[in-house]
Amino acid sequence: MIPVTKSFLPPVEKYSRYLKGIWKSAHLTNNGPLLMELEEKLKKYCEAKHFIFLNNGTSALQLAIKGWELKGEIITTPFSYIATTSSIVWENCQPVFADIDSSTLNINPAKIEKLITKKTSAILATHVYGIPCNVEALEKIAKKHKLKVIYDSAHAFGVKYKDKPLVNYGDASTLSFHATKLFHTVEGGALITNDENAAHRFSYLRNFGHKGQEDFWGLGINAKNSEFHAAMGLCVLPHVADIIKKRKELSTLYDKLLLGKETTIRRPVVPANTEYNYAYYPVIFESEKILLSVRDSLNADFIYPRRYFYPSLSTVNYVKKQPVPVSEDISSRVLCLPLYYELETEQVKRICKIIRHVLRFKS
Ligand SMILES: *Cc1c(COP(=O)(O)O)cnc(C)c1O
Repeated sequence: MIPVTKSFLPPVEKYSRYLKGIWKSAHLTNNGPLLMELEEKLKKYCEAKHFIFLNNGTSALQLAIKGWELKGEIITTPFSYIATTSSIVWENCQPVFADIDSSTLNINPAKIEKLITKKTSAILATHVYGIPCNVEALEKIAKKHKLKVIYDSAHAFGVKYKDKPLVNYGDASTLSFHATKLFHTVEGGALITNDENAAHRFSYLRNFGHKGQEDFWGLGINAKNSEFHAAMGLCVLPHVADIIKKRKELSTLYDKLLLGKETTIRRPVVPANTEYNYAYYPVIFESEKILLSVRDSLNADFIYPRRYFYPSLSTVNYVKKQPVPVSEDISSRVLCLPLYYELETEQVKRICKIIRHVLRFKS
């Protein structure tokens, strides 16, 4: 069986060593020594000014909205994981969808300005598949209209854009370190910002609003993470360069076997000046019908690609209907193929052979 992804697991002996330390200190959570160590290392890796390690990527999004007291409408992408939209609704704001660019599959800056109203407070955009948004254009619009820009950077760990980690663009970036992500801590997430005041608010929000043991800064929630999760992060982090290298090799092999004159498969475009992380391997077929026959043939061979991202978030039942034809079209035709550290070249060849076989009979 070949799943779409498989979590990277470090040598178990390495993790056990951390466990022994935890047993000795009996410090299990509440910003313990391992968490502080990981936070510091990740901060360095991301070249971040302020780095707040959290329990998951969804609370990172919610804390960003809460911490800036964003109200009213937030302009966002309909082509992302559900958490991008659900966090906005959960925080009592309205998601307003700007359609995506058909080449990068990220929010299309040209569609944003006409959606801005008196109620707009922010832009929440996803660097989908780790492909950088048009950060220059987004920041220009935000500045002109005094909006905050938050990037859902759940896929963007390890990506550089113009020699700077992508997570450093915008007012804040949110990360997810869920087990399925390129770098993971089993469950985990983070908020990155250059804004010192916001960083203080985020750290209070993370810990019930505690300001010392008996004093409270204000309303907060529990978005802390544990020593067990931090230990996993400390074990995985040294392997990140190798994980990205392996993914690059496998992606290059997919490219070689799938793209070319005789196939009609299209791939999203990574902009120039990007050092990419190969977080996913999405392919866009000519039609949903072709996608479904490809998926069925792969499933018949116990290969399970995933329809990331389907459906377009504009169609979920708790948002107002809004026209985003590009997102709805692309999400019906895009499929993420298996890509993970342990995937073997022989398996990639087998996957490509099946896909090419289906395409030969369909186009
Ligand atoms: C995974 C993911 C999230 C949610 O992160 P969790 O850590 O699972 O809460 C948010 N946005 C995107 C784009 C994601 O892929």
